[in-house]
Amino acid sequence: NAPTEYQYIGKPEVAALYRPRLKFSHKGTYGHALIVGGSYGKIGAVQLAAKATLTVGAGLVSTYVPACGYMPLQTALPEVMVITDEQNKQISAVEVPEKVNVICLGMGLGLHDDTKIALTNFLKKNKLPLALDADALNLLSANRQLLKLVPEGSVFTPHPKEFERLVGTWSSDFEKLEKAKKFSAQTKSVLVLKGAHTICFYNGVGYINSTGNPGMATGGSGDVLAGMVTGLIAQGYDVLAASVMATYLHGLSADIAVTTIGYEALTASKIIEGIGAAFVELF
Ligand code: AMP
Ligand code: MG
Repeated sequence: NAPTEYQYIGKPEVAALYRPRLKFSHKGTYGHALIVGGSYGKIGAVQLAAKATLTVGAGLVSTYVPACGYMPLQTALPEVMVITDEQNKQISAVEVPEKVNVICLGMGLGLHDDTKIALTNFLKKNKLPLALDADALNLLSANRQLLKLVPEGSVFTPHPKEFERLVGTWSSDFEKLEKAKKFSAQTKSVLVLKGAHTICFYNGVGYINSTGNPGMATGGSGDVLAGMVTGLIAQGYDVLAASVMATYLHGLSADIAVTTIGYEALTASKIIEGIGAAFVELF
């Protein structure tokens, strides 16, 4: 059990990860992401994630939502394809379109029994890398036998409460970080431990993010991050690069926004709007 190594993630580190878009590319070059989530009253979470996935540059984005999500998503996001479940208010199965190369699961999903069955059946046959957030994490915590069905090379994005449900409580910050490193090792996946300084754990190393501010303590900001991670994986960034880069740009977008609108008015939608400016600032 070697001591955890830490690396600071600032602008040069993220700029080095960035891969410019190719002149002779097309939307197929940049992947096809699927966002699975939503339940009655929480379709907005999928909307935020899908828009963030698009805004970091994914080639194609599809969503899989309960039937009640059809109209709001098609209206709000003309770029995004919408597949609906046969249930109106919650998901009861997961359908994956051809050529999808990464799946984001969990925002606004709810904890309905139908949804638990959907998640179980999905995990039994899925081989694609996953970005797991919110209620997908909560369902895994409540049904721990499902954890071993998550493919290696996935990404978990818990906030501290979700992380506590996954691994149990801790008595010090040190113990929390050790638990995060261990969880990442056991799942062979990236563990993005969100907070004021988000740390991405992978292969025994903790990557400490340097951007972000308390304006981000607002509903939906985590959904945006999960969408950004997914959109970068879709384009071919490896899971660690995607996690580190998404976390940095997410915080940087918010840091740029507060210089003009202040902390209080920062919303998840504003973080998405600023993603472009954050990319530009890398250079
Ligand atoms: P969630 O709780 O899932 O909506 O995720 C919240 C997101 O906002 C995570 O990416 C956090 O890192 C970020 N965030 C929340 N509060 C703060 C804060 N006080 N400072 C910096 N980032 C924050
Ligand atoms: Mg969240």
